[in-house]
Amino acid sequence: MKTSIIGYPRIGNLRELKFESEKYFRGEITAAELEKTAKEIRSYNLDIQKKSGLDFIPSNDFSFYDGVLDTAFLLNAVPERYTALGLSKLDTYFAAARGYQGEKGDVKALAMKKWYNTNYHYMVPEIDDATEIKLVGTKPFELFGEALAAGVRTKPVIIGAYTFLKLARYKGSKKAADFLDSTAAAYSEILKKLGELGAEWVQFDEPSLVTDMTAEDIQLFVSLYEKILPNKDSVRVLVQTYFGDVRDCYNELCGLDADGIGLDFKEGRLTSELVRKNGFPDGKTLFAGVINGKNIWRSNYASALSLLTELEKHTHDIVINTSCSLLHVPCTLANETKLADRFKKHFAYAEEKLAELAELRKITEAECPAETEEYRRNEALHAEPRIVGNEAVRKKVASLTEKDFVRLPEFAERERIQKARLGLPLFPTTTIGSFPQTADVKAKRSSYRKGEISDSEYEFFMEKKIAECIALQEEIGLDVLVHGEFERNDMVEYFGECLDGYLFTEKAWVQSYGTRCVKPPVIWGDISRAKPMTVKWSVYAQSLTDRPMKGMLTGPVTILNWSFPREDISLRESALQIALAIREEVLDLEANGISIIQVDEAALREKLPLRRADWREEYLDWAIPAFRYVHSGVKPGTQIHTHMCYSEFADIIRDIDDMDADVITFEASRSDLTILDVLKQNDFRTEVGPGVYDIHSPRVPSKEEIKAAIAKMRERIPAEKLWVNPDCGLKTRGNEETVPSLKNLVNAAKEARNENS
Ligand code: GLN
Ligand code: ZN
Repeated sequence: MKTSIIGYPRIGNLRELKFESEKYFRGEITAAELEKTAKEIRSYNLDIQKKSGLDFIPSNDFSFYDGVLDTAFLLNAVPERYTALGLSKLDTYFAAARGYQGEKGDVKALAMKKWYNTNYHYMVPEIDDATEIKLVGTKPFELFGEALAAGVRTKPVIIGAYTFLKLARYKGSKKAADFLDSTAAAYSEILKKLGELGAEWVQFDEPSLVTDMTAEDIQLFVSLYEKILPNKDSVRVLVQTYFGDVRDCYNELCGLDADGIGLDFKEGRLTSELVRKNGFPDGKTLFAGVINGKNIWRSNYASALSLLTELEKHTHDIVINTSCSLLHVPCTLANETKLADRFKKHFAYAEEKLAELAELRKITEAECPAETEEYRRNEALHAEPRIVGNEAVRKKVASLTEKDFVRLPEFAERERIQKARLGLPLFPTTTIGSFPQTADVKAKRSSYRKGEISDSEYEFFMEKKIAECIALQEEIGLDVLVHGEFERNDMVEYFGECLDGYLFTEKAWVQSYGTRCVKPPVIWGDISRAKPMTVKWSVYAQSLTDRPMKGMLTGPVTILNWSFPREDISLRESALQIALAIREEVLDLEANGISIIQVDEAALREKLPLRRADWREEYLDWAIPAFRYVHSGVKPGTQIHTHMCYSEFADIIRDIDDMDADVITFEASRSDLTILDVLKQNDFRTEVGPGVYDIHSPRVPSKEEIKAAIAKMRERIPAEKLWVNPDCGLKTRGNEETVPSLKNLVNAAKEARNENS
């Protein structure tokens, strides 16, 4: 059996691409210098994959920002507002990714969305009636050539035609099917060019095949490939799926004239069954995703082997594959210098997964696989008892009953009590929590972490930052203040570090979007709160102001979703363990005089199963209760806020209302405020702060722009339920843009308030 991966992390072992790109954005280095770093990363990645003995090495998995955006540029699906700026190719690309504000114009970025059920974000291509899909880019060809020159005949990886058309947003009257011919022609040409360059295999990524498909979708998918595949000549085409099973189109997929089919046996709950029941077509290669591309635990070779053996009943042409791109795990354990070996030996990041693939191949080649040294070592590792459980936590979770998940009195009565207590004006203004994490903040945290400064020096610094932040917010005129979250590197990692049961890593960065990376903590054992985590900062902040100070926590579902989860207990069990800990913190904040507490569930939408049939049982049935449990014990006058990134929750709007928070803030500006109609239609009860401007982009929104957004919101949302806020935390922004943006926001809210009365 040969080995393959779907893609490799591209940020560099030490996030070199991030840092160099950011320098480029600040004008500190040239495009050529940035390109040089990119090339070094690609060449390093190529090298270690080659050394590991990997048979199918991908290319074109590199991207300066995002692979879907790359595909849009490859296929000429770039809105004119970007090309019209007259910038260089690279800068036009970055303008679409990040927005542009400068001498040449002022344009917003493309919308950004979560990549299926991951914390990676892709840029949403925009297609209008004038868009002419055709092959105009050269990146896959250049990168294939670059690797070939280095002696490796790679497998170019490109977002597939169906997935591309499904992910695009259609601005005009034309729909995906109207672009069938032109898209198929462009992909045919891609195959032809790659063939001419010497490619033997090309991988088309089609994760959209694991989502619910209508008959029309299946038709579109089949038609595209029926038009593309006859043009493949000598090139072999792999249709690669991941993040689930292809239950809606397995037979159609097998019926195509493709040469390889990539299936996910990790997240694809029904994948094995599909193969067992329907068989696997002769003459095609099965790329079997048996190594988890999304989690950091070492594979269990015994179960991988038994799966592969089972599959061999259906086909002998099997390539051992990862379940998805390794983009979703950190690069290498080599940089985890502080983690003890007793933990580390259970981990495998991208580089270690390459080694696992090689070992698995060796095992499958052996006459007695179970007697190989690799197999035995792995077996011994998995036989060891890994953790000692926390009995108290387990008992508490087991004893929860219905009433633990219900907050009393009911919403309307709480709303009255809170309005009287807080005395806020109409359209209260607030922010989502974090303020710009300037260089001094990061430097202090880092020296504290390294033990270079004392507790008291660190606290003194943080208090100074908090005081400045409060003075700034008072000067700007915001109504509900925040302490600024300067002590937090990341909204999940911070809590991970405060909770027992978590392990944290040093350099385990994973790309979240563009140059933004996150370092998900690892849930190692049962979770419990050792001590208060945020109370000291919030109480200090509240002592400096008469305005309400929002306590700021991350909710259990988000903490879980943005951690590497355990695989030995259920997600439900883990979520409730975390909920127990966060609830203790909520009650502590309340007892210390904090009247508004925000429990962020930024990532709640993200792990919603890709198929509707799985939503409740596999997710919402425990995720919503976990959140409710966190705040069900507070007094009626304590106002509970929550925040969600992205407003793609139209489908679960009832469940969101059912979280029973008092206020919810969320992203809306990048998705054209479409969520507002949904709120109105559903008579949404929770007060709402749909973000009035996009914080993922460095541009400053004008007062008029914000007023227009508020006016639009007012048409759908009752005045007394509307809050005014940016769409997410400000930590990735600088003060230069944050201060004028917030001033415009406050002035816009004030004017709207006056006009309303
Ligand atoms: N409170 C967090 C912040 O402001 C929320 C971040 C997020 O939603 N991603 O940074
Ligand atoms: Zn957010």
